[in-house]
Amino acid sequence: MMRFAYSRATDIAEAVRNADVAGARYVAGGTNLVDLMKYDVEQPTALVDINALNLHAITELAGGGLRLGALATNADTAYDPRVQARYPLVASAILAGASAQLRNAATNGGNINQRTRCYYFYDTATPCNKRAPGSGCGAIGGFNRIHAILGTSEHCIATHPSDLCVALAALEAEVQVTGPEGERVIPFADYHRLPGDEPWRDNVLRPGELVTGIDLPSEGFAQHSTYLKLRDRQSYAFALVSAAVAMRIENGVIAEARIALGGVAHKPWRRVEAEALLAGQAPDVLLFGRAADALLAGAQTFGGNDFKPDLARRTIIRACQDAVGSWFE
Ligand code: SF4
Repeated sequence: MMRFAYSRATDIAEAVRNADVAGARYVAGGTNLVDLMKYDVEQPTALVDINALNLHAITELAGGGLRLGALATNADTAYDPRVQARYPLVASAILAGASAQLRNAATNGGNINQRTRCYYFYDTATPCNKRAPGSGCGAIGGFNRIHAILGTSEHCIATHPSDLCVALAALEAEVQVTGPEGERVIPFADYHRLPGDEPWRDNVLRPGELVTGIDLPSEGFAQHSTYLKLRDRQSYAFALVSAAVAMRIENGVIAEARIALGGVAHKPWRRVEAEALLAGQAPDVLLFGRAADALLAGAQTFGGNDFKPDLARRTIIRACQDAVGSWFE
C-alpha cells in the first residue's frame, strides 16, 4: 500500500476543500475502498474521512419521500421502520447483500459508489482497462461467469455489484451531491455509466464531488414490489442475476410497472419500453415473458456467462409474479 495523506473533515465544505487534490478519495465505512487499497488497485494520494459529517440521518422530505443520508449505514437503512413500511424493496435489496457485519459498517453513499467485483480488476498481475486504462480486458476471453450481458463494450464487460442500486433504479431515486461547483441532483438512471470507451469511469461524479444523500420519491410501491436475487451460494455472494420489480395495480390491471436488473450490466438495467408492455394489462405469465424478452433484447454472452439470458428471463418472470403476490394466484 502506498503512502497517503489523511484528514478528518467536520463539515461538507471542509471535506470538499480537503478533497480538492489529484488522487483524493472520500472514505466512510471503507468496506470496499480499504480492500482496494490493500490490493494496490486504488492508490489514493489523500483520504478525506467524512464520518464526522452530519449525513447519518434518514429524514422526511416535504413531498412525502425519504432522504437516506449518505452516511446512514446499510443496516440502519434496512431496519428503519419507515423504510420497511414504505420502501420494502429497498430494505429487502439491502438485506440480500453482503453480511450483517458489512452492512453495519457500509454506508449508503459508499454502496452506490462501490466498484465492480470483476476478478481481473482486483488482480494487478492481469490486464484490466478499468484499473489500468489501455491494458486490455482479461475477462473477455477469460473467466467471465459473473460478467455483463447487456450494455457491454469491447473495453469492459464488468457488472455493478450493488443490490441496493437495483432497487433505487426501480424506484427512480435521486442522488444529492455537493462539489467544488456547488450542489446538484442526479436522477438515479443517469448516475451510473455504461463502460463505453472509458470503463474506468463508473459514474458521472465530477472530481471532488461528494454524495450527501439519496432521495426516495413518495411512491414506494409497498403493496406490490419484490427483490429477487440469484447467486452461487445462499448468502454473502454477489448476484448472478437479480430483479427489482415494482407495480401499481388498480382494479386488477397493472397501472404502472418498473423492472430493474442487477448482475447483467455496468449499471442497473432498465428499459421503459419493456415496462410499457405491462401498463394497462392484467397480470399474466406470458405477458411477463414478453416484457422479459424486451428487457433482455440484444443480450450478448462471453462463454462463461452463457447461462445468464435464460436465468435472467426466468428471474424477471418469477419476480413479476412475486410482486403481484397472492392476488395473482
Ligand atoms: Fe477490467 Fe472491466 Fe475487463 Fe473486468 S471486465 S477485466 S473490470 S476491463
